[in-house]
Amino acid sequence: MWPSASRITIYEYYPGAPIPHYCIQCPDYPCVSACPTKALSVDQLTGAVLVDPSLCTLCLKCVEACPGKVPKTTRGKSHVLICDLCFGDPACVRECSRVGYNALKTVKKPSNTGIKHYAKPPELVAEEFGRKIYM
Ligand code: SF4
Ligand code: SF4
Ligand code: SF4
Repeated sequence: MWPSASRITIYEYYPGAPIPHYCIQCPDYPCVSACPTKALSVDQLTGAVLVDPSLCTLCLKCVEACPGKVPKTTRGKSHVLICDLCFGDPACVRECSRVGYNALKTVKKPSNTGIKHYAKPPELVAEEFGRKIYM
């Protein structure tokens, strides 16, 4: 187990209100445009952002550009971590289903650019969620 290297991070700002946080594949990929070393590219098959570890300098410009501050760093890795959708067969979805929670499912990426609305910093998502359940 190495949760800090997972490309999904679960935050719990409010008890009982876990917030999963991960890349939502923005239609305009601001992280890719912001990378000065071309370490990021888009998988043409899945739309996932791919990181080339040999080109990443950990400058964190992609984190600055990401509306949700999604790219992660962790001890022992010299490059950022971004969900690569497991190249089309998401292991998180399989595992969630195997243990019986069925909270995840794979969907086709909507063409609607409103999808970017979902890329938010986790504290903002938690605040909105907290307001809904506690107020
Ligand atoms: S941290 Fe790595 S992937 Fe992100 S912008 Fe810098 S070089 Fe590119
Ligand atoms: S959510 Fe962040 S990491 Fe994912 S595509 Fe958008 S800008 Fe890039
Ligand atoms: S799709 Fe793969 S890389 Fe992305 S969060 Fe799930 S298990 Fe991790």
